[in-house]
Amino acid sequence: MALSGIQIYKVLPQTNCKECGVATCLAFAMKLAARQAELSACPYVSDEAKAMLDTAAAPPIRLITLGAGDRKLEVGNETVVYRHEKTFVHQPGLFLRLPASLSDADFAAGVDKVAGYTVERVGQMLRTDGVAIEGASADAFAARVKQAVDKGLAVILLASDPAVIEAGLAAAGNTKPLIYAGAGADSAALAPLAKKYSASLTVGAAGDLEALAAATEKAVAAGAEDLVLDPGMTGWADALALPAQLRRAAIKKNFKQLGYPIIAFPGSLSDSAEEEAMLASLLIGKYAGLIVLDRFDQAVVYSLLALRQNIYTDPQKPIQVSPGLYEIGEPEPGSPLLVTTNFSLTYFSVAGEVEGSGRKAWLLVADSEGLSVLTAWAAGKFDAEAIAKAVKTTGVAEKINHKSIVLPGAVAGLSGELEEELPGWKVLVGPRESIGIPSYLKLLASQ
Ligand code: SF4
Repeated sequence: MALSGIQIYKVLPQTNCKECGVATCLAFAMKLAARQAELSACPYVSDEAKAMLDTAAAPPIRLITLGAGDRKLEVGNETVVYRHEKTFVHQPGLFLRLPASLSDADFAAGVDKVAGYTVERVGQMLRTDGVAIEGASADAFAARVKQAVDKGLAVILLASDPAVIEAGLAAAGNTKPLIYAGAGADSAALAPLAKKYSASLTVGAAGDLEALAAATEKAVAAGAEDLVLDPGMTGWADALALPAQLRRAAIKKNFKQLGYPIIAFPGSLSDSAEEEAMLASLLIGKYAGLIVLDRFDQAVVYSLLALRQNIYTDPQKPIQVSPGLYEIGEPEPGSPLLVTTNFSLTYFSVAGEVEGSGRKAWLLVADSEGLSVLTAWAAGKFDAEAIAKAVKTTGVAEKINHKSIVLPGAVAGLSGELEEELPGWKVLVGPRESIGIPSYLKLLASQ
């Protein structure tokens, strides 16, 4: 938990010498608490105070890295329990479990499925992160781990025999794998291996958070630093309660022993694909760091990726597209002109519907500071003046041979004001929802 200004002030020299550029030590402490100053600005702070303040400044949930290159995955480092307090920072990694019983061909197909799946949503490329590989013999395990890391995937090593684990670690090279030896494994005994290969290590305890805290302490004492927690969920109630308890203990109580990301296996807690998907959704919202699926159904995976994207978007910084004039399907001068806002989801919904209709159109995107149509209208950021400004600054009037503009139906009330702002223009009212755009464009073309 972050320290208050008064707590920080107590460990400062309290001489008010002003060398930090601030009038008093108390004022400097207040700036430190608000993260508006660096401790190094005070040359007189003691080593003891420095160590104390550094520890207090460390994130309550440790940042763990898996994988390397452009698929590098970082989880943890979260600072809030609820997204509306600030934002969730590192989205959970989604993995597919590949059992040892798979044939070589099926294993390769599983790796290819994960490595090859990419989907675009609101201008961002979404994909899963890696595979969790079950190990039987050392040689076969090493070969499979190598196959996965060669495809760029992050890997979780599901094995309990230290010799098999080490074979996997060696095959993973410098790709920062995670060791998962089972919820009941002696993690401290595996800590030297984790340290040797710069891997992270899972620490488990069957539903007992006190035992889990003791186990992480033991693993850290044995040399492990990057830990992942398996709290031993056994069903829906655990999946809801245990991650929430861990999150609160780490963030609200600053309980360092439990300040690590959580791994979850929704497939092990469910009897069907539907139940696994629902559990995975729950765990994305609260508060898994790594989710290992037993099934890879693209429809489910896409839904999970979209949910993850929504939850891990900073609510204070909506995803935006640049305002301007967009051409959908090589429009001609006579093609219709539609207007919308620069909230990414709105833009891609409208553009997608126009594209899907097979028709050509000009899409004027007004700057609404990334807000959707109704929100922007309510906030005064998508009004007749803003739309008229977009018409003038983009020079759309020179590209089209008509003077008609289609307003989103949700802001039909702006049409009168817009006609005043754009003398000589005809303002049409389009559908309220983007899904109505294809039939609207068809109607427009028939007139
Ligand atoms: S430099 Fe250090 S001792 Fe001097 S006023 Fe600033 S905080 Fe206080």
